[in-house]
Amino acid sequence: MIVKFIFLILAIWLGLRIYQTLQAKKQKKISSAQSQNMVRCETCKIHIPVNEAIKSGDKFFCSKDHLPKED
Ligand SMILES: [Zn+2]
Repeated sequence: MIVKFIFLILAIWLGLRIYQTLQAKKQKKISSAQSQNMVRCETCKIHIPVNEAIKSGDKFFCSKDHLPKED
Protein backbone atom coordinates (compact mmCIF):
# COMPACT_ATOMS: atom_id res chain seq x y z
CA MET A 1 0.00 0.00 0.00
CA ILE A 2 2.85 2.43 0.86
CA VAL A 3 4.30 1.86 -2.63
CA LYS A 4 1.02 3.01 -4.16
CA PHE A 5 1.12 6.09 -1.95
CA ILE A 6 4.70 6.96 -2.97
CA PHE A 7 3.77 6.44 -6.63
CA LEU A 8 0.82 8.79 -6.23
CA ILE A 9 3.04 11.48 -4.66
CA LEU A 10 5.57 11.06 -7.49
CA ALA A 11 2.81 11.33 -10.10
CA ILE A 12 1.47 14.53 -8.53
CA TRP A 13 4.99 15.98 -8.23
CA LEU A 14 5.78 15.12 -11.85
CA GLY A 15 2.48 16.62 -12.96
CA LEU A 16 3.22 19.84 -11.10
CA ARG A 17 6.72 20.01 -12.59
CA ILE A 18 5.33 19.63 -16.13
CA TYR A 19 2.61 22.20 -15.38
CA GLN A 20 5.16 24.70 -14.03
CA THR A 21 7.43 24.17 -17.05
CA LEU A 22 4.52 24.81 -19.40
CA GLN A 23 3.51 27.92 -17.45
CA ALA A 24 7.10 29.22 -17.56
CA LYS A 25 7.16 28.71 -21.34
CA LYS A 26 3.85 30.58 -21.65
CA GLN A 27 5.22 33.45 -19.54
CA LYS A 28 8.29 33.66 -21.78
CA LYS A 29 6.10 33.79 -24.87
CA ILE A 30 3.99 36.57 -23.36
CA SER A 31 7.01 38.63 -22.32
CA SER A 32 8.60 38.25 -25.76
CA ALA A 33 5.34 39.36 -27.35
CA GLN A 34 5.28 42.36 -25.05
CA SER A 35 8.81 43.31 -26.03
CA GLN A 36 7.44 43.77 -29.57
CA ASN A 37 5.05 46.28 -28.19
CA MET A 38 2.84 48.69 -30.05
CA VAL A 39 3.84 52.34 -29.86
CA ARG A 40 1.90 55.45 -30.81
CA CYS A 41 2.93 57.93 -33.45
CA GLU A 42 3.15 61.30 -31.71
CA THR A 43 1.87 63.09 -34.81
CA CYS A 44 -1.12 61.08 -36.06
CA LYS A 45 -1.70 58.95 -32.91
CA ILE A 46 -1.92 55.65 -34.80
CA HIS A 47 -0.44 52.55 -33.21
CA ILE A 48 2.42 50.76 -34.91
CA PRO A 49 4.74 47.88 -33.92
CA VAL A 50 7.82 49.25 -32.19
CA ASN A 51 10.14 47.58 -34.71
CA GLU A 52 8.43 49.49 -37.55
CA ALA A 53 8.38 52.80 -35.71
CA ILE A 54 10.91 55.59 -36.11
CA LYS A 55 12.28 56.65 -32.75
CA SER A 56 13.21 60.23 -32.07
CA GLY A 57 14.38 60.92 -28.55
CA ASP A 58 11.86 59.16 -26.34
CA LYS A 59 9.01 59.49 -28.84
CA PHE A 60 7.91 57.30 -31.74
CA PHE A 61 6.65 58.18 -35.20
CA CYS A 62 5.03 56.08 -37.93
CA SER A 63 7.02 57.59 -40.79
CA LYS A 64 9.74 60.12 -41.53
CA ASP A 65 7.04 62.58 -42.63
CA HIS A 66 5.71 62.65 -39.07
CA LEU A 67 9.04 63.35 -37.43
CA PRO A 68 9.13 66.82 -35.88
CA LYS A 69 10.83 69.33 -38.14
CA GLU A 70 14.33 70.05 -36.92
CA ASP A 71 14.69 73.45 -38.56
ZN1 LIG B 1 2.10 59.27 -37.88
